[in-house]
Amino acid sequence: MNPNGSIGVNRQTNIETDEYFAVMFEQMPVGVGLYDAQTFCLLAANPLFFEFLEPPWHGNRQAIGHPPMLWLPEAVEQGVMDIFRTVAETGVPYHSGIYMFPAFERGITYWNWTLSPLRDQDGEVVRLVQTLVEITEQMEAQRSPAAASASFPATNRDGETERRHLEVVEAVARSVRISLDPKRISMAASSAILNAFKARHVFIHTADPAQQALRLLHIYPPLADQRHAAQLKYIPYASNFLIARAHAQRDPIVIADVKEARDQGVISSESPLAIYPLNSYVSVPLWFGEQFEGTLTASFLETIAVDGPEVRALLDCSTYIAAALANARLHVDVENERARLRSILDQLPEGIIITEAANGRINYANTAAAAILALPMKTLINTSLQRNAQAFVSNNGAPQVVLPWNFAVIRALSGEIISSQETSMIRPDGKTVTILSSSAPVRSKWGTITGAVIVFQDITAQKSLEQQKNEFLSFASHELRTPVTAIQGFAEILQLQVESGQLPGPQSLHALAIINEQSQTLTRLIDEMLDLTRIDNMQLMLHRSRCDLVGILLHAIEIQASTTKKHQLRLVLDGLTDTDTVMAFVDKNRCLQIVSNLLSNAIKYSPEGGAIVVGLHYSSAARAEVVIWVKDHGTGIPEGEITNIFKRFHRVQDIDPSISGLGIGLYLVKELVTLHGGRIWVESAEGRGSTFFVRLPLNFTH
Ligand code: ADP
Repeated sequence: MNPNGSIGVNRQTNIETDEYFAVMFEQMPVGVGLYDAQTFCLLAANPLFFEFLEPPWHGNRQAIGHPPMLWLPEAVEQGVMDIFRTVAETGVPYHSGIYMFPAFERGITYWNWTLSPLRDQDGEVVRLVQTLVEITEQMEAQRSPAAASASFPATNRDGETERRHLEVVEAVARSVRISLDPKRISMAASSAILNAFKARHVFIHTADPAQQALRLLHIYPPLADQRHAAQLKYIPYASNFLIARAHAQRDPIVIADVKEARDQGVISSESPLAIYPLNSYVSVPLWFGEQFEGTLTASFLETIAVDGPEVRALLDCSTYIAAALANARLHVDVENERARLRSILDQLPEGIIITEAANGRINYANTAAAAILALPMKTLINTSLQRNAQAFVSNNGAPQVVLPWNFAVIRALSGEIISSQETSMIRPDGKTVTILSSSAPVRSKWGTITGAVIVFQDITAQKSLEQQKNEFLSFASHELRTPVTAIQGFAEILQLQVESGQLPGPQSLHALAIINEQSQTLTRLIDEMLDLTRIDNMQLMLHRSRCDLVGILLHAIEIQASTTKKHQLRLVLDGLTDTDTVMAFVDKNRCLQIVSNLLSNAIKYSPEGGAIVVGLHYSSAARAEVVIWVKDHGTGIPEGEITNIFKRFHRVQDIDPSISGLGIGLYLVKELVTLHGGRIWVESAEGRGSTFFVRLPLNFTH
């Protein structure tokens, strides 16, 4: 050998040996294939290998350059490819595989095959060599009970198997040192057990205590029979599978002789154990302290002793595997708990931001936080509060955004808890929002402050409502004072007249009329304000009775007509004659209030006077409802305001200041219409008048 480890022969000899190798390779009674360890593409193979393939690959070299998935029967494809991946990943060769293939023409065939890794100088697995020998005949002969006992004579294998036992434990211990991933450890354990003993299958289940069942983690080599594979995937503790009992015991379950166990009824003749050509079976419960983690099971082609090296090897590996499973379970538990907390935080309507103490960076923000601040999540996360502010200051043209918590965070990081602090900020979309926030330090379990948490909500809507309410109160006091002043003034005039002994004349009548009119205005204003409180307290109730809608409209027109000389009010009935009535089950006074309010607005917002029409549409085809409308030719409503006028306290901007109002009339009308099960809408053009429509159900069913 030269220092590089290659064989030092001269070129001549090399060519000769190459030729011998080529001939041997061609003539070998074993199918041999060489694969790339990454892509699993076939690189080279001897003629027998191609002979073994099924049509259309049979006998020709077309398989070169392709992975085995293409020519493997579907039933075994996944299992075989798992073995390829395991050998390529772990570097542990696969040696004792007897595999059952459903062949295209010949039915079930049996194969003994191996897969060995070839490494490069750095020890990386770069190639895989597969050998294939068909053993269908031998397997069929073996399946007869007489042959079975003859082919597995009980010999003394103890010395040899003891060595293998140590090999297995060493392989598992080595894999635990490399990684604590249970899947990897299971792969290494099963490959080592299969290589060391004549095992048929090795499989590992994990315990699912919540479902009281075992779940298959890994099986090697995979079962060809899909039905059996499915049975093994999920085994409830209550099932009559042997391994289901493992959760209740610490000793391994050992069936030294499957045939005998079947004859004695220990295992049912339908069990997969009885169907496969097996002789022994061992299942080791995997315990980690007081926790049952799963099972390690192996089936053997040979009869094994209850205290034989196979059982001891499995027992020794079981400690490592149980520890890896426990570790994985705890990891999953922690992850699940974390995910659960995250999903709770993500669904909260309050914004939550957590910053790190070390650098002030935001390391967590929930969805609500991003939405309230109108910042993309990726901008929020990982930038410091300071940086966030600067990023937006320098952003050309964009409004300046300063997250309002630098100070709060500093105080929280010094251990202070600040609650319900109101701040306002300009968001990147230019909107000014008012935010109510609380902040507190986040401490580690040793008490050191590791960060700060800020919980906040957008209270802009509440704030603007509060502001509107304040404005309303100042308006209301002004509106209420006007009639009170008039009433007071005219009452004083009357008082003076009476005191001076003057007889009541036309002046006195005028004063009384004004007192009466202003008292009514006062009553209406007070009633509207009371209604507002009733709506807030859910106390606005309807007192329904059967009444005639046409009568209500006429009454409303009569009342409102008396308040104006500039307007001509008239009723239009659509689909009815003048003498018709339209009966409905409604609150008469509230319906009168609806129409009166719309009419008084029509008068108020047509300062030049003009015609005002109250209409009622009734069609005998759609008898369940009517549409009432009030049409004026007044100021109209600007397009952008149409959706706002039904909101409480809303008055159109730049309205003529001489037109008084509180901005609650239409809000009340809408609430009353809705309480009746109806709908209100408006069609209007600025400067050309408005038409308010009310669709009202007649509610005969009541
Ligand atoms: P207000 O007490 O201000 O009249 P409302 O709630 O009745 O309150 O009306 C809200 C706003 O809708 C009014 O301020 C006015 O700008 C507008 N509006 C209502 N009715 C009409 C109408 N017929 N024509 C034009 N604008 C109207």
